[in-house]
Amino acid sequence: MPIARIHGCIGCENCVKACPTDVIRMDPESNQAYIAYVDECQICNFCLLSCPVDAITITLDKPVKPNVSWG
Ligand code: SF4
Ligand code: SF4
Repeated sequence: MPIARIHGCIGCENCVKACPTDVIRMDPESNQAYIAYVDECQICNFCLLSCPVDAITITLDKPVKPNVSWG
C-alpha cells in the first residue's frame, strides 16, 4: 500500500503531472486529487515531493509484492 492518503489538497495538479504511472487523478467536482490506481504506485515519491502543501502520505507498512516468478 504505497501511496496511502491525500488530505488537504488545494488542487494544483502537480502530483497528477508528476506521477509516472497515472496513479493519481483529479476529481472535477471537488477539484481535489484522489488515488485512482493504487496498485500501480511505484513508491517513487515524485508526487510527495511535488506537493506544495504536504497533502500526500506514502507508507511502506506493507511490503511491495516482488515481481518474481519461481517457475
Ligand atoms: S509515489 Fe510515485 S508512483 Fe506512487 S503515486 Fe506518487 S508519483 Fe505515483
Ligand atoms: S500536489 Fe498536493 S495540492 Fe497539488 S493536486 Fe496533488 S495532492 Fe493536491
